Amino acid sequence: MKLKCPVCGREYEEPVQRCECGEPVEFELLKGEPYIGKSVWERFWDFWPVEPELELSLGEGDTPLIRSKLGKELDVKLYLKNETVNPTWSFKDRGTFLAMSYALKAGYKAVGTVSTGNMAASVAAYASRFGLDAKILVSESASDEKLKAVSVYGGDVIRVKGDYGRLYFESLKLGERLGVYFINSDNPFRIEGYKGITFEIAEELSPDYVLVPTSSGGLFRGIAKGFIELKESGLIDDLPTLVAVQAEGCSPICRAFKEGRERIERFEKPKTIAKAIANPYPPSGNAVLKLLREFGWLCVSVNDEEIATAQRKLAGEGFFVQPASATGVAALEKLTESGVISEGSKVVSILTGSGLKTLFQVEGDEIRECPLEGLESCIRSGS
Ligand SMILES: *Cc1c(COP(=O)(O)O)cnc(C)c1O
Ligand SMILES: [Zn+2]
Repeated sequence: MKLKCPVCGREYEEPVQRCECGEPVEFELLKGEPYIGKSVWERFWDFWPVEPELELSLGEGDTPLIRSKLGKELDVKLYLKNETVNPTWSFKDRGTFLAMSYALKAGYKAVGTVSTGNMAASVAAYASRFGLDAKILVSESASDEKLKAVSVYGGDVIRVKGDYGRLYFESLKLGERLGVYFINSDNPFRIEGYKGITFEIAEELSPDYVLVPTSSGGLFRGIAKGFIELKESGLIDDLPTLVAVQAEGCSPICRAFKEGRERIERFEKPKTIAKAIANPYPPSGNAVLKLLREFGWLCVSVNDEEIATAQRKLAGEGFFVQPASATGVAALEKLTESGVISEGSKVVSILTGSGLKTLFQVEGDEIRECPLEGLESCIRSGS
């Protein structure tokens, strides 16, 4: 197992969580060939730095890639990678499963995470499945309602009073001391698990663009590394252009990118409906910036109105996603309008998580009422 810092280049033989310089660490590029197998874990066996615990899988991954009708009005071929069908309704399950496979093999009895939403639920669910204790650290402001989807799995959910940004780093330190393996947003095994999204896309098509809702930067780095490994293995000829998509109200990566800076700065007073991508100080922000520069990739931010419109359009086609997951389609509208993405391009947007997790943010359509006696005329007069 060899890990390298993608920012300063230092190397590690032990599975550390972060580089001494403060940046994340990443497994060296893995190369291999695909096999015939049932799950993405089996088909891409060479590409995981730790053996997946297949018998403990909850069926994460192998999600559908669906051609969207929304591409038509934008003159592109749009495909939606529907990650909402994962066991806890977001792509986080892919990374949680692989990281927990490591934790189990390494002999940990407890795992943890720092999150308020999808990652908390994912780690709690897989900890139950793996028979490990879960320490789920959430922010003071996390509502009881939201935490129901976490505590239902039986983990130890702890509301932490104090600076939420510092909690990420504190948890890693405490974890080491207490023997709790923290699987935070850009844990190196988590990033590896996300590569499955790339592999599955590449099995079906070679996209020109991939739109990636981006918060901590973990998902973006995983998708990038997946494509790079496929190219290095000779399995694809060209890398697609990756697009990191952020919410305008919390866009530290896009802002630094536009200003040509090498380091992100904390985004003060974040405000957006896309809560799942509202990390004001993304722990993989600098690593993502480096990838964007190195490969000539893009960063696009979209505002709440554009996000809400995209969410409604997706629902109009049968995909109920949370606001964060609609940002890709919102960004596509901007990129086609401005001519950055040209006619006929093949575009994949990652639908990262389900709308059922954010029901409280949804304005449903009007619901009519009818007496049974008058039902016929009611049905006739409906739109
Ligand atoms: C976690 C998450 C993201 C962003 O992933 P990062 O790895 O933090 O960049 C996007 N959408 C949803 C729904 C998420 O839960
Ligand atoms: Zn480093």
